[in-house]
Amino acid sequence: MPADEFRTKALTWLTEHARPFAGESADGNFAPSLKESKAFQKSLWEAGLAGITWPKEYGGQGLGEDEVIAFNEVASDFLLPTGPFVIGLGMPGPTILELGTEEQKKRHIPPMLSGDEIWCQLFSEPNGGSDVASLQTSAVRTEMGWLINGQKVWTSGAQFSDFGAILVRTDPTVPRHSGITMFIVDMHHPGVTVRPLVVATGDAPFNEVYFDDVEVPLDAVIGEVNQGWAAAVVMLRNERVTIGAGGRSRSNPLGYDALREIAADIGTADDTGVRRRLANLYARETAVAAFGRVLHEGALAGNPIGARGSAAKLAGAELGLWASDAAEDIVGQDIALLTGKSAKAARMILRAPGSATAGGSNEIQRNIVAERVLGLPKDPGAADRKTPFNQLKLSK
Ligand SMILES: Cc1cc2nc3c(=O)[nH]c(=O)nc-3n(C[C@H](O)[C@H](O)[C@H](O)COP(=O)(O)OP(=O)(O)OC[C@H]3O[C@@H](n4cnc5c(N)ncnc54)[C@H](O)[C@@H]3O)c2cc1C
Repeated sequence: MPADEFRTKALTWLTEHARPFAGESADGNFAPSLKESKAFQKSLWEAGLAGITWPKEYGGQGLGEDEVIAFNEVASDFLLPTGPFVIGLGMPGPTILELGTEEQKKRHIPPMLSGDEIWCQLFSEPNGGSDVASLQTSAVRTEMGWLINGQKVWTSGAQFSDFGAILVRTDPTVPRHSGITMFIVDMHHPGVTVRPLVVATGDAPFNEVYFDDVEVPLDAVIGEVNQGWAAAVVMLRNERVTIGAGGRSRSNPLGYDALREIAADIGTADDTGVRRRLANLYARETAVAAFGRVLHEGALAGNPIGARGSAAKLAGAELGLWASDAAEDIVGQDIALLTGKSAKAARMILRAPGSATAGGSNEIQRNIVAERVLGLPKDPGAADRKTPFNQLKLSK
């Protein structure tokens, strides 16, 4: 289907089924329930608008990047209640499509796309955030499969997830990057305990997750046993691209369109300082979106995104922090009230530092860009890459 035809189809459908951005962007009242989100994702998928580039045999649309760009451009005029699906469709989904077995793809990809099953990503631990390879959650082999014990933290959406992609240590006698395996874990298993963590906005977007004798079958491995680091690299690459290389969104509360609307509402849109800030924000957003597009188009032409995904993630996070400062200047001190039209922007300001940490902090992205894109010397932290994990001195 030509991209223009797809754009018209998407616009027609969204106009009928989604809430328009105009007038709603800054009122802070758009808080869809999980039930509403699930119903919306299901109808989006049934309309042929979910999984645009994913293969048809697993429920995707089998289309190209032009159609994704067309959809994103059209969708940015609407408030879509698709938040609960961002992780599954951005990270475990593409990883299973790349490394999973035929059975895993057939079983998990269609309900992921239809919104019937929600996924989370279980990488970070209390002592293994930036340094994921130091993770201590373990799995031992049993007659039936594997038995997982340990703790994860900062797991976004675990409270409503059906499945998780978890990284665990399956061989402690080899160096830390070598003895890790990625599994599909059923979040409804009785040995899984999810405890919410409340943040400054009052929300609990992420959780601590405890695993006590959680059994997973042999066919739950994503990729190969003890090759989980390679699977993690695939997933983190997808995560960084998902977070950083999206398009400009008119419905982003810290985006140019939303802040310009607020400035117009409070009567500062003609102020020279505000106009400069807005123009600068527009230029930055456009540059980040253009970079994302270059990466995606290059990938389709056979030039994998690789470590440049870290540059995209870094650029997106820096843009969020810059836009937070701009929003404070544009709205003034009233933004601290967390009420009225600027409430949504204010909440995003509170979230922006978290975005600069989620998916790997800005410092870690800079290290990756330095080492793998620019070819600079390795971080000294990599010195113990050859020591067996069980001989490392790690805090418990
Ligand atoms: C909003 C949000 C959502 C998240 N969702 C998930 C999720 O769904 N699943 C999941 O698994 N995790 C999730 N995380 C966790 C996230 O991946 C980690 O917070 C992140 O990787 C950093 O790890 P840490 O918090 O342990 O910090 P640490 O690794 O302890 O880092 C602390 C500080 O030290 C710096 N630092 C560490 N190592 C280096 C180094 N080598 N060089 C320079 N500086 C360094 C860091 O940049 C940081 O400033 C989420 C985090 C946030 C904020």
